Amino acid sequence: NQSLSELDPQIAAVLDGELVRQQETLEMIASENFVPRAVLQAQGSVLTNKYAEGYPGKRYYGGCEQVDVAEELARERATALFGAEHANVQPHSGAQANAAVLHALAEAGDTILGLELAHGGHLTHGMKLNFSGKLYDVASYGVDPQTYLVDMDVVRAKALEARPRVIIAGWSAYPRQLDFEAFASIAEEVGAALWVDMAHFAGLVAAGLHPSPVPHANVVSTTVHKTLGGPRSGLILSRQEHARKIDSAVFPGQQGGPLMHVIAAKAVALKVAATEGFRERQQRTVDGARIIAERLCAADVAEAGVSVLTGGTDVHLTLVDLRHSELDGQQAEDLLHEAGITVNRNAVPFDPRPPRVTSGLRIGTPALATRGFGEAEFREVADIIATALVDGRGADVEGLRTRVKNLTDGFPLYPGLSQ
Ligand code: PLP
Repeated sequence: NQSLSELDPQIAAVLDGELVRQQETLEMIASENFVPRAVLQAQGSVLTNKYAEGYPGKRYYGGCEQVDVAEELARERATALFGAEHANVQPHSGAQANAAVLHALAEAGDTILGLELAHGGHLTHGMKLNFSGKLYDVASYGVDPQTYLVDMDVVRAKALEARPRVIIAGWSAYPRQLDFEAFASIAEEVGAALWVDMAHFAGLVAAGLHPSPVPHANVVSTTVHKTLGGPRSGLILSRQEHARKIDSAVFPGQQGGPLMHVIAAKAVALKVAATEGFRERQQRTVDGARIIAERLCAADVAEAGVSVLTGGTDVHLTLVDLRHSELDGQQAEDLLHEAGITVNRNAVPFDPRPPRVTSGLRIGTPALATRGFGEAEFREVADIIATALVDGRGADVEGLRTRVKNLTDGFPLYPGLSQ
């Protein structure tokens, strides 16, 4: 019955240090968020002890009466939130959800067509070292070299040429909305299934601030921990006709025992996502991203060779193009890190630099919106980032860090939490 700090002071120190890091920096990695304390509580609970292979009412273990309730609630809340016919809430992560989707919709050797990784797609959409690139014959579409947008005529031409079994719409780095109706019509024309991976923008969909892929796609997968603001994990929504295949692709196809503590935490997050407070937070998320994009489109920033891909954003992130800046992606990420802002470097389409360096930054607003930031704070954040990128190697890091501290002090994160 020892506490963590008694039993393992080294790990306790990591947890304490990470709490302080999150409290004292501005978290702007577009795929991250801060979960409510109720989610931390559910996830750090005795449900971690329970084996529950199978599905509610059809388990391969005894003693599942309590966890069945949690999984049923998570499924009901997921289908209600997104207006889906079926939900599988067991995927341990987004990548495992995606593995199950492909397992359900295609056979090894079939062709899949998705957005190229270097243009904003995800590893699980056909990257050659990923299971998706190894098991399937991969065709891909990119963004237009002038507009940096996905051109549906190009997608259609690629689909007619490749005749894929599955068309994938979804992204990890793209600042605009995709046309799901057009994707569905192309899928129908070529006899493919349409799978939308809404991992990044699921929270915006839940809030009604982004078109929903659910009416158009055969299957929709998502992570729960990005804009959706829940525990690190995945879930899959589908039409009823695919329900059995999806369920059996997750278990026993991909996974063994589900993480019932995480499923309980997902249920909590999905309850939160149906509230007016969540909708308002997603609005601040999108507004914040626009404020940052607008500031980074200003003349002083352009003079420093820094620009914003597509000239703005419709979602929770901004993609910064540093191809003409004195800083590469790695240097810009490091500079912002020194100032107390966490972002990730990200390849821009047609990037001349290698993936470990890159010529871009991906800057997201979900975590700061969760922290409570509104228009005034996002304007200040945008100006701190713009000043850093304009001043480059000559930046006054101390001065920037003081401005960051003023913001973090004004919006305490997890006050009173001790681990
Ligand atoms: N799908 C998309 C579009 C993503 O951006 C990500 C994560 O970055 C994933 C899936 C994978 O999620 P996870 O990291 O939980 O495996």
